[in-house]
Amino acid sequence: MRALGSARTPQSARRRWLPPAWALDAAAAIEVARFGAAEGWSCAQLVAALEAAGDAVASGGFPLTPVAGMQGGIVATNLLTGNTRTPTYAGIPSVVFTTPPLARVGLDEAEARAQGLHVTTRHEDTSGWYSSRRVALPHTGFKTLVEDGTERVLGAHLLGLHAEEVINIFALAIRAGLTTRVLKDMVYAYPTSASDVSYMV
Ligand SMILES: Cc1cc2nc3c(=O)[nH]c(=O)nc-3n(C[C@H](O)[C@H](O)[C@H](O)COP(=O)(O)OP(=O)(O)OC[C@H]3O[C@@H](n4cnc5c(N)ncnc54)[C@H](O)[C@@H]3O)c2cc1C
Repeated sequence: MRALGSARTPQSARRRWLPPAWALDAAAAIEVARFGAAEGWSCAQLVAALEAAGDAVASGGFPLTPVAGMQGGIVATNLLTGNTRTPTYAGIPSVVFTTPPLARVGLDEAEARAQGLHVTTRHEDTSGWYSSRRVALPHTGFKTLVEDGTERVLGAHLLGLHAEEVINIFALAIRAGLTTRVLKDMVYAYPTSASDVSYMV
């Protein structure tokens, strides 16, 4: 089976013949349907053989380059070895490349509440911190979500210098299930934006 790409808007009416786990966006679903018709495959045969990666997948993850890469690697492995791998969408960072950058990873408060999680939220205006003052950034800040009891980091939202890099530390913490203690005990290079992380959790 080939990999499919491109187009974004999911149109459930056009993919209703696919089970939810295989939800594709509209253009990809049409491609699959055309392929099936040309090959004389039944719907069941198509679904059994289907692998998809990248923006064509409407059922998980953000439409981002690294997500497409992760899904592509998993599809390649599964084509070669059978269905041995599934994607993990927790802790995938995204960035708005403004000045300063705005970055997020993991859950926000509403998502944590919806999942019934008990979290402690920390947030602060960091415009008075050295890392912001030395480059005269008047509007910077952060919010972090930490699960009560386990002390695992569940979410981070950053606005500030190098937020697009620092967010990767929080992404690693979420994907690896690290606790705030690990982030606090870490010895960071100084002075760096990452060295602020220990004050954010
Ligand atoms: C303006 C813009 C900015 C972005 N910035 C970022 C960013 O900063 N960071 C980030 O992580 N992501 C960014 N993205 C998202 C990122 O580009 C996509 O998530 C990623 O490219 C998805 O990879 P893909 O392989 O699924 O699809 P694509 O990269 O779109 O590749 C699909 C390929 O399939 C080809 N194709 C389509 N239909 C057919 C067909 N019928 N037959 C043969 N070939 C076909 C297309 O020509 C294309 O080459 C941005 C996207 C846009 C549009």
